[in-house]
Amino acid sequence: MLQITLLPARSDNYIFLGLDTATGFRFVVDPADAALVLGALQGGTLDAILNTHHHDDHVSGNLALKAATGCTIIGPAADRDRIPGIDRAVAEGETVALGASVAVVMDVPGHTRGHIAYYCAESAALFCGDTLFALGCGRLFEGTPAQMWAALKRFRALPAETRIYCAHEYTESNLRFAEHLLPGDAALTAYGAEIRAKRAQGLPTVPPLMGQEARTNPFLLADAPGMAARLGLAANAEPVAVFAEIRGRKDRF
Ligand code: ZN
Ligand code: FE
Repeated sequence: MLQITLLPARSDNYIFLGLDTATGFRFVVDPADAALVLGALQGGTLDAILNTHHHDDHVSGNLALKAATGCTIIGPAADRDRIPGIDRAVAEGETVALGASVAVVMDVPGHTRGHIAYYCAESAALFCGDTLFALGCGRLFEGTPAQMWAALKRFRALPAETRIYCAHEYTESNLRFAEHLLPGDAALTAYGAEIRAKRAQGLPTVPPLMGQEARTNPFLLADAPGMAARLGLAANAEPVAVFAEIRGRKDRF
């Protein structure tokens, strides 16, 4: 089993420090800040870095951490040229051993063309970088709506108890957009109250649960009955077109 600690970094990033409790294997996901990770390790070892994508706020700690700890850097094969210090390039279906725990790699292009996620079924943990957020999803910098929608549907099909270790605390601003799109939605109202209470106490809203997101995240509801009509699209509009419309509105919100 994995024990996962959140390290808030920069203005709204989360770095995840993982420990496989059976073996003591330690890894970090998307280290934006090497000094922060080294501080959290308190002199302990670091075995691996897992990168989800090439953006600077996910890889900028790679080289300093590798130099300080000798850790192995694992990242997306499709983006191997853009991951500093990469040792192992992985793609869809490959497994990554984290001590006695195992993560499966999912290719989830959309935010970037090489974006991957790491899913550990045993620990019900999904490290999804900037693909899915609490009540939101990543911007389409390099990919298409079809790619992102396909990725989100795969995430949604994971067990409801899956914890979504997304890389940013964007939840409150995503909540405002979701409320604008789904005014008066009972599930969203209840979730929104929870989110605001946590943020008011300075607590993270990450990791949210997949079951909760499947009911309230507008981007996961693109194929829900009535969503197309709500957006002024034809009732029989393709879900990917509905998704693209929601993404476009969020970009302009
Ligand atoms: Zn990014
Ligand atoms: Fe990011």
